[in-house]
Amino acid sequence: MTFALTPKTAAGRRLRSAAEELIPVFQERVQAADADNKMPGENYTDLFRCGIAAAFVPSELGGFGLESVHDWIVGITTLARGDASTAIAINMHLGVSRGMAGAYQGSLKKPEVARKLAKPLEDIVGGNMLICATATEPGTDNLHPLTEAKPVAGGWRIDGQKIFVTLSPLATHLGMNLRMRDDEGDHLVTTLLPMDTPGLIPQDDWDALGMRGSGSQSVIFDGARVPPGAIRKLGPWGRWSVGMVMNRALANLPLVGAFLGVAEAAYDIAVDQLGNRQRVGKPVAGFSGVQTLVGEMDIELAKCRAILTAAGEATDRFLAQTRQGPPTLEEAHELMKDYQTAKWVVNRGAIDIVSKAMDLMGGSGYTQRHPLARLYRDVRAGPFMQPFAPTEARQYVGQVVLGHPPVD
Ligand SMILES: Cc1cc2nc3c(=O)[nH]c(=O)nc-3n(C[C@H](O)[C@H](O)[C@H](O)COP(=O)(O)OP(=O)(O)OC[C@H]3O[C@@H](n4cnc5c(N)ncnc54)[C@H](O)[C@@H]3O)c2cc1C
Repeated sequence: MTFALTPKTAAGRRLRSAAEELIPVFQERVQAADADNKMPGENYTDLFRCGIAAAFVPSELGGFGLESVHDWIVGITTLARGDASTAIAINMHLGVSRGMAGAYQGSLKKPEVARKLAKPLEDIVGGNMLICATATEPGTDNLHPLTEAKPVAGGWRIDGQKIFVTLSPLATHLGMNLRMRDDEGDHLVTTLLPMDTPGLIPQDDWDALGMRGSGSQSVIFDGARVPPGAIRKLGPWGRWSVGMVMNRALANLPLVGAFLGVAEAAYDIAVDQLGNRQRVGKPVAGFSGVQTLVGEMDIELAKCRAILTAAGEATDRFLAQTRQGPPTLEEAHELMKDYQTAKWVVNRGAIDIVSKAMDLMGGSGYTQRHPLARLYRDVRAGPFMQPFAPTEARQYVGQVVLGHPPVD
C-alpha cells in the first residue's frame, strides 16, 4: 500500500498503534450503537485507557506529547475504520486539548501559570476530562455566531443555541465559539465550560441518517454562567481573522481522515468478501467487471490518501514556520484553501468508494444489519463539515487563488 497514511513522529506511531488495537474492539460495538442511536460509552473508557484521549498532553504530564497534525489525521483515520462516530467525537476532544497543551507549553517560563494550565491536562490523563467542541448554530455560519456572552456581576452569562454538538452526552466540558460585545468592539470569542453548568441544557434530540453513535445533539444556553477570565478573544465578530481561519482549519482538517477511514473500511469489506464468492461455480474475483470496479476503488483510495498525506505534511510545515512569527491572513487562507481542497477530494472520493463497495457486495450490503449499510450512511456526513459546505468550498478556493479571499 504505497499511498497508505504513515505516522511521521514517535508520538504519532504510538497513537496509530493504540488506534489499530481498538479497531476490532470498536467494530464489535458499532452496529449496536448505530441501531440504538446511542454513544458506545465503553469506547471512551478504552480511549482513555490506551492514552489516545491524552495524545496531545505533553509527555512530562503523562500524555503521548503529540504535535504533528499529520499524525493526528492518521490516528483519526485509523479509529474510523472501527467506528466513524467515535472517531469524529474524539476528534473534537483532541482539537480542544491540542489548544490547551499549546497554551501550557507557551507558559513554561511562568511556573505559576504553567501549574494552573497543567491541571486540566492532568485531568485528561486521569480520564476525568472529556471535551466536546461546538461552533454550529441554526441559520448562521461560524463567523457570525448569535450565541452571546454578556457581562454580569461575577463574570458572563451565555444565551443561545448550538446544534450538532458531537460527544456532548458523555463530555464533561464544552468548548465553543460565541459572540461578545464590549467597549473595544464586537468580538468572536471562545470559552470552555463544564457540562453541568446551570443553564446549559442538552436537548437529547440526535437522530440522524448516519453517525448515529456520535451523540450530536443540540444544546441550549439559558443564562449559563462563566467566570470573568473564562472568555478568550479570537478575532472580530463577522470577519475572517488569522485566529479564526487557523482555528477553523486546524480543528476540522483531521475530520477528513474519519471519512477516509470509512472508505478504507468499506473497501476492505468488499475486497475480503469477494475472495470467497462464487457465481455459477466461478470465482467472482475473476469477472472483468468486478476487477475493473476494484481497480477504480483502489485508484480513488490512493488519490484520497495521497492528498490527505500532503495536506497533513503541509500543515505541519506551516505550523513550524509560525514558530518564527505569526502568519499573515493571506498565508492562513492558503492553509485553509489546501484543507478545503483535500476535504473536497476525500469526501467525494470516499462517498464514491463506499458506493462502489455496495455495488460489489450486491443486495447483502444493502441490508440494515450489514456494516456497509452503516458506512454508506456515515460517509455522507463528510461534506457538511465546517467551515465551508460543498456549495461554498469551490468558490472559496477560487477566491483565495485569485487573491480575493472572503472578508466577512
Ligand atoms: C455528524 C455531524 C457531526 C457534527 N459535529 C459537529 C460538532 O461537533 N461541532 C460543530 O460545531 N459542528 C458540528 N457539525 C456541524 C457541521 O460542521 C456543519 O456546520 C453543519 O452540518 C452545517 O449545517 P448545514 O449544512 O445544515 O448548513 P446550513 O448553514 O444550514 O446551510 C444550508 C445550506 O445552505 C448553504 N449555504 C449557506 N450559506 C451559503 C452561502 N453563502 N453560499 C452558498 N451556500 C450557502 C450551505 O452550504 C448548506 O448547503 C456536525 C455535523 C454533522 C453532520
